[in-house]
Amino acid sequence: MAHAVTLIPGDGTGPELAEATRRALEATGVQFDWDVQQAGIDEFKRTGEPFPAATLESLARTRVGIKGPTTTPVGSGFRSVNVALRRELDLYMCLRPCKSYEGVRTRFPGLDLVIVRENTEDVYLGIEYEAGSLDAARVIELLGELGASVRPDSGIGVKPISRFGSERIVEAAFAYAQRNGRHKVTAVHKANIMKFTDGLFLEVARGVAARHPTIEFDDIIVDNLANQLMQWPEDYDVLVLPNLYGDIVSDLAAGMIGGLGFAGGANIGSEAAVFEATHGSAPKYAGLNKVNPTALMLSGVYMLRYLGEPTAADRLEHAIAEVIRKGERVTFDLKQDRNDPTAVGTSQFADAVIEELNA
Ligand code: NAD
Repeated sequence: MAHAVTLIPGDGTGPELAEATRRALEATGVQFDWDVQQAGIDEFKRTGEPFPAATLESLARTRVGIKGPTTTPVGSGFRSVNVALRRELDLYMCLRPCKSYEGVRTRFPGLDLVIVRENTEDVYLGIEYEAGSLDAARVIELLGELGASVRPDSGIGVKPISRFGSERIVEAAFAYAQRNGRHKVTAVHKANIMKFTDGLFLEVARGVAARHPTIEFDDIIVDNLANQLMQWPEDYDVLVLPNLYGDIVSDLAAGMIGGLGFAGGANIGSEAAVFEATHGSAPKYAGLNKVNPTALMLSGVYMLRYLGEPTAADRLEHAIAEVIRKGERVTFDLKQDRNDPTAVGTSQFADAVIEELNA
């Protein structure tokens, strides 16, 4: 039976990446019943709505989506489609496997890390009060009553981290480790400074770890992790982090495996999942058939696993890895010289993956 999947091409380079990924997924032989839906800045310009109700309704029906990147203009009233999507569908787990494939230029060959980022809490809840506003003044006054002195010209952000949210993300990290033969989970925090938010996250993580004695557990302060990852990345296996640290460390790890072009990801909740690359819409390359579709294709690999198609997932991952290892029909970012004229486009990279799948 065909899998019903919502396909959101996105904007910028999204549509060309989504098309390359759709073709590669279909070439595995798995049947899909695609429901193509829109989101992003192009949709906003067309209809005034970046994340239409129809897209959400489709995801609520299919419960599985694959999405090209979408642009979020800085400093406008435009809310991030990604943040809205994660919140509406309660996609609390952001899964970002980071693996160095042979043939990719990286200082960290053999790296194989998995990042599990909490997706719904922390400063990303967007509870902020603008400096000079009435609301900021009220919050500052309340803080004063609670004994905290805050400069009156401050903007204020709030960082909620709950026991519930921490428990389910750490539990999800251990479940992932168990299912995928991983040996260790490391909780990342700044509990030495933020005792009641990161401290709670750490306390809960320790409690969850005690229920999973077969998997090693440790914790590390996030700034130390940034240092240690550069020096001893092999000491880490599965990292579980609150939202903001997870976002930053994901990009760091993406750099370690060769760049954003290789970092696939998934946003997973208990009812639905949306698969997307870590990178953004790279608008300067939009419509040029130039960027690397690996990250979205790998997101497709994780989607196949989620859909219960592990053989197709392994075949597609192997085909992508082979194209990269051979290094011939690859995009500019995979060439030694980024101006190498033998670099192929997004679509031709997909052709190479499809040929490899059929070889
Ligand atoms: P970006 O990831 O779009 O691009 C940064 C740079 O990384 C690019 O200029 C390019 O050199 C490189 N790059 C990115 N993807 C690549 C690929 N597939 N192949 C080769 N090189 C690639 O980051 P940005 O410029 O900061 O963000 C652009 C827009 O995307 C912003 O509006 C941002 O909010 C949005 N964004 C969306 C998502 C998402 O939809 N999930 C994620 C991150 C950023």
